Amino acid sequence: MTLDFLGDLRRTHMCGDLRAENDGQEVVLLGWVNRRRDLGNVIFIDVRDRTGLTQLVFDKSENPALHEKASTLRSEFVIGAIGKVRRRGEKTINRNIPTGEIEVVASELRLLNESKQPPFLPSDPALANEEVRLKYRYIDLRREPMQYNIELRHKVALAIRQYLSSKGFFEIETPFMTRSTPEGARDYLVPSRVYPGEFYALPQSPQLFKQILMISGFDKYFQIVRCFRDEDLRADRQPEFTQIDLEMSFPQPDRVFEVVEGFLQAAFKAAAHELKTPFPRMSYDEAIRNYGIDKPDLRLPKLTDVRSAFTAEQLQSLQLNPELPVVAIRIPVIGDLSRKERDENRPLFGERKEARLIDDIKRLEKSFPEAVAKLREMSGAEASDLVVLVGAPAQMEKSATRPDYGVFMAAGALRVELARKYAQRHMAFHKGGFHFAWVTDFPMFEWDENEKRWNAAHHPFTSPHERDMDKLESDPGAVRALAYDVVLNGTELGSGSIRIHRQDIQSKIFRALGMSDEEARSRFGFFLEALEYGTPPHGGIALGLDRIVMILAGAESLREVIPFPKTAKAVDLMVDAPTPVSEAQLRELGIKIR
Ligand code: ASP
Repeated sequence: MTLDFLGDLRRTHMCGDLRAENDGQEVVLLGWVNRRRDLGNVIFIDVRDRTGLTQLVFDKSENPALHEKASTLRSEFVIGAIGKVRRRGEKTINRNIPTGEIEVVASELRLLNESKQPPFLPSDPALANEEVRLKYRYIDLRREPMQYNIELRHKVALAIRQYLSSKGFFEIETPFMTRSTPEGARDYLVPSRVYPGEFYALPQSPQLFKQILMISGFDKYFQIVRCFRDEDLRADRQPEFTQIDLEMSFPQPDRVFEVVEGFLQAAFKAAAHELKTPFPRMSYDEAIRNYGIDKPDLRLPKLTDVRSAFTAEQLQSLQLNPELPVVAIRIPVIGDLSRKERDENRPLFGERKEARLIDDIKRLEKSFPEAVAKLREMSGAEASDLVVLVGAPAQMEKSATRPDYGVFMAAGALRVELARKYAQRHMAFHKGGFHFAWVTDFPMFEWDENEKRWNAAHHPFTSPHERDMDKLESDPGAVRALAYDVVLNGTELGSGSIRIHRQDIQSKIFRALGMSDEEARSRFGFFLEALEYGTPPHGGIALGLDRIVMILAGAESLREVIPFPKTAKAVDLMVDAPTPVSEAQLRELGIKIR
């Protein structure tokens, strides 16, 4: 087939632009053949670009040579067409597309390129298997939903940039080839050719650089930035992902919250959603007691401690510890589950040391009618709600530090599982869009049972509460951090903290984490030194851009909103990465594969 050159063909409109008012205009359209319908004497070609489709008409009786040329077109060929806009007759109007009132009667056609028969057609509503989609991502991205998602991503990022810039934030780049940042994952390493045996690390976050930018007096920084974390493979994780990362000088947590609420409002507006601010706030302790989890889904009713509905003897007869909470989980609308269905749900609770599932209150109604009536009232349960109780086993001891979190957390986990399983049924789960919350005052440290030591719950640069400083050595488990998360509908969108700006406190934290001065110096010496040159109080946060866009797009996976994602097994199927490299390259880097 002979191909034509683009020559001087200059587009007058995009394929989604033309309307009835353009009737009679001569236009030039450029794009892909979405579909060809050959009716013998007339051929219709839908030409497509990222804005939509326009129907081109080739009439044999008017221009036999052009009609002949149109008959050679196939799906995904690239064409240019000159023609005249014509209103369609009432009967042939296509109300499903914005250009459906018109068509373009072609007077010239240039065939700019052919296409092999693609493994799937962008116009096919049936979705190809995901591996095929990822291997042929360039074709997959031509599909309308993908074009929508990528455009949405652009708009959201732009709205965030504009908002932050209007509030005095500078977008400042930080290096990709750097040293390890402690965010709790493994590093991706880049070997140095010049210094054999030495490596750069790709950043897990720009954490230390953004703190240094505060030391450097930039006052407010942000970056929409790629981060790299080599984590254990999980279904919806990407080894490289994009964060909206920010840091500011002299802030209280409230100042950070205002900025984040502001840019989220702008981002959601870009997707035509209005957000109400400020978001509700709760401490970690309140989140655990009310929801049993640190990323509460506010669309469902809270948990209620209904222990006082029972007498101590009743609790003992249920083999429960009468000194620990009895937590009621209430899920609307699914109160009519059969006994069999309820039994089938028991595995959702699993085996737990710290908590026992007592089941649906229906089972208790006969033996403890008064208690059940009281607990219904306490938890605000309606007749149509499923109410399940979780308590602590009788033999469970009341521990000194976190007396009752175990019961609440077990109940919280079951609440999430039940909510997920019956999401279709209980309307409350679907109603009312976006429920944000701030969770504050996280514990500073987490006990690592394997290593028998304390780990930083956020990262080691997070400031402890001023009021808890004296417990750093005596009672690390009770120290609260000036750390916060922003949560949406039960998922964590981002975390941040007020940082340590004093060298003396930073050293204390490293000590509490069991890190010797020597080790701290060798890992973060540059940073500890920088802290000693006039570091202002500062703090910040980072939010996952991919996740925000996924939620706004109503997509089920991050891969739907990342142009070139990796699979759940960390493979790029299109470029086929990772791959082995040549012996010569390895030799040059001084690397030997074991
Ligand atoms: N660097 C942290 C993270 O990536 C966020 C922050 O503390 O600002 O999770």
